[in-house]
Amino acid sequence: MDADLIPISALQHMLYCPRQCALIHLERQWAENLHTAEGRLLHDRADVPAIERRHGVRTVTAMPISCAGLGIGGVADVVEFHVGEHGERPYPVEYKRGRPKAHRADDVQLCAQALCLEDMFKVTVEEGALFYGMPRRRQMVMFDEALRSLTRQVIEQTREMFISAQTPLAVYDAKRCGGCSLLDLCQPRMLVRAGAVTAWLAQQLRDEKET
Ligand code: SF4
Repeated sequence: MDADLIPISALQHMLYCPRQCALIHLERQWAENLHTAEGRLLHDRADVPAIERRHGVRTVTAMPISCAGLGIGGVADVVEFHVGEHGERPYPVEYKRGRPKAHRADDVQLCAQALCLEDMFKVTVEEGALFYGMPRRRQMVMFDEALRSLTRQVIEQTREMFISAQTPLAVYDAKRCGGCSLLDLCQPRMLVRAGAVTAWLAQQLRDEKET
């Protein structure tokens, strides 16, 4: 993949937490927890490049995808090619551990894949699916204008952060940080306390100058 392209995986990290995105993609830090290990095992199934045809559907696994216009690229777990009135249409399927989530990070990642496939095959991709480990079933995702717009917005935010090469400060959120594999590396509670101490010191200096 072109080194200048934003990895599609960075988009879901950006939506989950901009600092997590910067630590992984700018600072190249990584740590595994139970959630990420389970996710990796689930992905191993789809990570072997292969093409097979069953019931008229051609299925390509570990397919490299990119869109130069949007400056994004990555590897799609599975792309099915469904035969319709106008020939084959790509249908991306992404494998995820756990349950469907409240935030839209998974939807954005899948939509970014759809935008790449539209660019590569010059067709409209209206729908794809997320396969969740719990329960083991697919959830359909429609690529409507709201999701496309959110995806383009996250691509731009990620690009701006990559260009600035600045890792955002931690914003501690118990639920989000509790599920983050980088919790020990990031130390968000300590950084927040350090920020408060720095702000307090700065205020004392200002007060002293004014008296
Ligand atoms: S621990 Fe929290 S603030 Fe730090 S990277 Fe993870 S989610 Fe973001």
